[in-house]
Amino acid sequence: MKLHEYQAKEIFARHGVAVPRGRVASTPAEARAIAEQLGGKVVVKAQIHAGGRGKGRLVAKPDTASMYQKLISDPANNSGQVKGERVGGVRLASTAEEAEREAANILGKYLVSIQTGPDGKLVKNVLVEEQSAVAKEYYLAIIIDGAQGCPLIMASTEGGQEIEVVAHSNPEAIVRIPVSPVAGFQPYVGRALAAGLGLKDDQAAQFTKLAEGLYDVAMKNDTSLVEVNPLVVTDEGKVIALDGKLTIDDNALFRHRELEALRDKDEEDPLEVLAQSLGVANFIKLDGNIGCVVNGAGLAMATMDTIKLAGGEPANFLDIGTVNDPQRVVSALKVILEDPSVKAILVNIFGGMARVDIIAQGVIDAHRQMEIHVPVVMRLIGTNLAEGEKLVEESGLPLIRATGLAEAAAKAVAAANAA
Ligand code: GDP
Ligand code: MN
Repeated sequence: MKLHEYQAKEIFARHGVAVPRGRVASTPAEARAIAEQLGGKVVVKAQIHAGGRGKGRLVAKPDTASMYQKLISDPANNSGQVKGERVGGVRLASTAEEAEREAANILGKYLVSIQTGPDGKLVKNVLVEEQSAVAKEYYLAIIIDGAQGCPLIMASTEGGQEIEVVAHSNPEAIVRIPVSPVAGFQPYVGRALAAGLGLKDDQAAQFTKLAEGLYDVAMKNDTSLVEVNPLVVTDEGKVIALDGKLTIDDNALFRHRELEALRDKDEEDPLEVLAQSLGVANFIKLDGNIGCVVNGAGLAMATMDTIKLAGGEPANFLDIGTVNDPQRVVSALKVILEDPSVKAILVNIFGGMARVDIIAQGVIDAHRQMEIHVPVVMRLIGTNLAEGEKLVEESGLPLIRATGLAEAAAKAVAAANAA
């Protein structure tokens, strides 16, 4: 689960991380009132679940694959408002009136950035913050390094640009310090990071406090990503988090009920939201046109590979798990059928603990309960296969049958192409 910048910064502040003073607004008038309290000289920042806002484009409606194409072909473009032009989702204002105007420019528009995809994201809120006089921009992130089995802090002097670009063009500019999850953030970690960035004395001390605070944020909230880009040193020599990104590990959300209130469903894929609401847990929307109903994550991956091998594209990943209730299958099909790009469905079941007949019954129930307007290919094998076959035969439904996985995938691709 991703959080908005303003939510991340509220959490940062509670853990002693220095952030600019500011508040979130959903109307231009609110933005003006906040700017007045902050003395007028503020930055107005679109709140969406994506970065690259400063260099993004605001549009009334997301048309335009071509605009997006331009963005991704020129990732180094520097035409955000901060550099002088009146575009982008991060804007400087010198007075409260200007802040109100900028908020009016941003709110209700779609912001298309290199990270949003061509459709952009609707801006519902802006963060109004006091301006910082930036002397130098840095990068800091905390991720979980699965290979080393520990949190990893990454820092770079090349702040303000995407870390993927730095990793490619200037990899030695990234300092990586693994942290022992048992010992935690020891003083040497801060020293190693500060030295790697060339920070000294008071700034090294401020930086270490900030990094330690962020490490605390990561551990207390089970984050998969904490990213501050840029972390800045100001003209007055203050070290602050100018941007903030937090992603909470979904598998740990049950331990953080208080974070559930910060979820912004408008930012999430509508099909995935529907899936969650129907209890279809392991559903991930993809770009293809063949809907997949599979039991087991490994088999689901193999099914997607086989579809691709057969020249098709899966519309989703779905592991329905060990099913003992046909309604679960109905729910899964309901989610898939809501996807307008789906042209065929492949049901691939290897009955181990899950029973083939229960899943077959689910597919049959789905046909009775709703209109299924696309061909359904069924490949069943395993526990209670004979009972399942019998149900399918007696149903008289026009299901396309397959025995092997390759055959099933080929039939699904052919059915999708024929549609
Ligand atoms: P992002 O583009 O979505 O990553 O949004 P950021 O919060 O990182 O803002 C983009 C850029 O705007 C930053 O890299 C800064 O260069 C600039 N910026 C943001 N806030 C301020 C500010 O208060 N003062 C100045 N001078 N620049 C700012
Ligand atoms: Mn940023």
